[in-house]
Amino acid sequence: MATEDTLRLFFALPCPPEQAAAICSWRDRHALGGRPVALENLHLTLAFLGAQPAARLDALRHLATGVTSDSFELTLNRLITLGKGFACLAPGEAPPALLQLAGSLAERLGALGIVLDSRPYLPHMTLARQAPTQAHGAAATFGWKAERFVLYRSQNTADGVRYSELGSWPLRSAAAPD
Ligand code: ATP
Ligand code: MG
Repeated sequence: MATEDTLRLFFALPCPPEQAAAICSWRDRHALGGRPVALENLHLTLAFLGAQPAARLDALRHLATGVTSDSFELTLNRLITLGKGFACLAPGEAPPALLQLAGSLAERLGALGIVLDSRPYLPHMTLARQAPTQAHGAAATFGWKAERFVLYRSQNTADGVRYSELGSWPLRSAAAPD
């Protein structure tokens, strides 16, 4: 639990607003049920840090600055259910650069003594919680070029969970051809 001296943190890829609108519109037409995730909250988690001392923020920003992963095309076209009814969009196949980015963050966080979930990294974007039916199969295809990653603070508010950006770092563009 996050207190005043601790912040609940995670690194993630933000979902650009245009794609978020298309995804929410598709989700709402497909009546997945459960509690829908707010449009502005759509994201793909790279590393969930949990409650961290606020005094650690500088070190986390420094860590993120050292990440040198490449930008990549992200394509989400599978509908899956995780855990207790988390209806999610997922890539059919995770781009190698996405796994490299999540792996690089995990390794650098480990060096700071921050241990992540022991389950293997499974890229997904949660669309709804407590969805009543299990869904597995093809979804419409959504995608964008992931060109940055973000450190978010997660806070519970009277209006539901709210994420705020504490930092954003670019992913490297592929070198221009000669
Ligand atoms: P709430 O828990 O208040 O319903 P939330 O799940 O959106 O809202 P957080 O629990 O702060 O907010 O989680 C932020 C992000 O990190 C979400 O994408 C969530 O799925 C992911 N996450 C949370 N716990 C873990 C974990 N143990 N391992 C990996 N990812 C996690
Ligand atoms: Mg949660």
